[in-house]
Amino acid sequence: MRKILIVGAGQSGLHLAHGLLSHGYDVTLITGQTSIEIRTGRPSITQFTLPTVLGYERELQLDFWSSVAPHMEKFNVHMYPPGSPPMVIQGRNDGYILSVDRRVKMADWLEYFEDRGGKVVIHGVTLSDLDYFSRMFDLVVVAVGAGELGALFDRDPSRISAARERVLAQVYIDGVASTGDSDDTTGWVATTPAGNVFLVPVLTAQGPCHSLFLVGEPGGAVDTWHDKPSPQQQLDRMKDHLRQHMPEYYERCRNAVLIDGKSRLIERLHPQVRQPVGRLPSGGLVLGIADVVVTTDPFGGQGWNNSTRCAKSYLTSILDRGDRPFDEAYLRRMFEDFWSYGQSAEMWAQMISTMWDTELPEHLQEVMGAAMVYPEVADRWIQGWDYPPDYQNWLLDPVLARKYLAEVAATRGR
Ligand SMILES: Cc1cc2nc3c(=O)[nH]c(=O)nc-3n(C[C@H](O)[C@H](O)[C@H](O)COP(=O)(O)OP(=O)(O)OC[C@H]3O[C@@H](n4cnc5c(N)ncnc54)[C@H](O)[C@@H]3O)c2cc1C
Repeated sequence: MRKILIVGAGQSGLHLAHGLLSHGYDVTLITGQTSIEIRTGRPSITQFTLPTVLGYERELQLDFWSSVAPHMEKFNVHMYPPGSPPMVIQGRNDGYILSVDRRVKMADWLEYFEDRGGKVVIHGVTLSDLDYFSRMFDLVVVAVGAGELGALFDRDPSRISAARERVLAQVYIDGVASTGDSDDTTGWVATTPAGNVFLVPVLTAQGPCHSLFLVGEPGGAVDTWHDKPSPQQQLDRMKDHLRQHMPEYYERCRNAVLIDGKSRLIERLHPQVRQPVGRLPSGGLVLGIADVVVTTDPFGGQGWNNSTRCAKSYLTSILDRGDRPFDEAYLRRMFEDFWSYGQSAEMWAQMISTMWDTELPEHLQEVMGAAMVYPEVADRWIQGWDYPPDYQNWLLDPVLARKYLAEVAATRGR
């Protein structure tokens, strides 16, 4: 039986570990935190489980929350061009999106992995540990997210051109007002030159609430976190930013309160792509997965989607390999197979990251205008989050976008 070691029990590591266990592999998971430490620890960036990924989780019997978490069936997108009224569209997902607090989700998956007979070791892995492990296992997968071991993998600037550092502030809140057409089945997302905001229903250990997260440029209009504000100060400042830049969001959040004193986050993120294979001092090889090798701009909301798709793609490649060795050429091919999908998420994130650099691109304004009139255009925009390769067929290319809009208008007889 093939022996696989996975270092890191986050979204990608646990998804892959469960998948391999289901196929009879001898899987060991080494991670720095127990499930109790995860449950009682810091929150992380709000995740979206998009419909396709939810399907992958169901295949592995890992969807524990569909019956209790709010279902986001549609999304409202507000775009605020300077000096003009906001453009607002509402699109339907093909299925529903769930958002579950990472502390709940990862802790439950880790405990379930042990219950199923998976081996779990709680240990903060070092480089010399990896050297030793690489001789004991057929394959070592490094799934440490933003952990320091990621430095083992060299950056690959050729695969990402517009990466920018981002500052993110997030709070979990109660008391978000509903509006006429927006209840807990609707996520809200806004984009402005000052920054982007997501306001989405989320399931936490305390029950459903809302996550409000604001992403901007370091030193930009919504980066007001240098003095390490208290949680209450952070919420107050976030409300101020909403009032100034996204008034519709302020109206919904003006009476919101924190769910507790620790469910907040302020973080700096730097999107990047790294080489997928790391070479250890002894010459052994390890394979990086998900955030270790690819992080995209949080403006695009693709982090968890990409992580799971990477895990799913690696699972297929490992099964396909059978008993043959995981040599460097094969490890690189595993990544390329994922990247044929992952680069689309990257291209989408880059478009979203750069669209306010100068004037808002004309074709985007035309798409938003059409999406306000034709629901099928709004639906296609929203459903692209689940499958960003579709954006290459229209949204990312002005010629193709206009061709699509003309087809829609012709179908509608206008
Ligand atoms: C630049 C950037 C942009 C992002 N954008 C988005 C976004 O747009 N949307 C979104 O949903 N998410 C986003 N994220 C968040 C991220 O993509 C998700 O949180 C995703 O879960 C990452 O999955 P993962 O499996 O790679 O790592 P994680 O889920 O972070 O898991 C890492 C695991 O490794 C463990 N670990 C770390 N070091 C060690 C060690 N030395 N030994 C043992 N264990 C260790 C940790 O304890 C943890 O269990 C972003 C993150 C970054 C950095």
